[in-house]
Amino acid sequence: MTQPNHVVCTACGAINRLSTGQDATSGKCGKCGTALFTGEPADMSATKLERQIAKSDIPVLVDVWAPWCGPCRVMSPQFAAAAAKAEPAMRFLKLNSDEAPELSTRLAIRGIPTMLLFEGGKEVARVSGAMSSSDILKWVEGARGK
Ligand code: ZN
Repeated sequence: MTQPNHVVCTACGAINRLSTGQDATSGKCGKCGTALFTGEPADMSATKLERQIAKSDIPVLVDVWAPWCGPCRVMSPQFAAAAAKAEPAMRFLKLNSDEAPELSTRLAIRGIPTMLLFEGGKEVARVSGAMSSSDILKWVEGARGK
């Protein structure tokens, strides 16, 4: 872990470079001053999400959901709890599929909730259905170990 980590601001999309040993939890965006990590999943537009996926050095976990989806509402606090535990080693993001139909189609989302894990700009794993926070973290660990 000697490489600098590029982290994309969830507010303005600026790419921030974290130096080794820097405490990312207290880091602020060099452009807009927003905290780089809040311990809470950030809602993304399609454009912002694609930038996060393409430019982040850390793994990006995306919860694809919709307001009318019951299981999505069940999972939402679980996803947030997982974010509180796993940030800043990972980025937790949410995509409302109703507001991003084109990207949802491109990502081949067939059911929600669906979680997508990206590393180095590429999808490495996905899973559908509501999960508990501990199961989410276990799944990520397993998916990254492959
Ligand atoms: Zn910013």
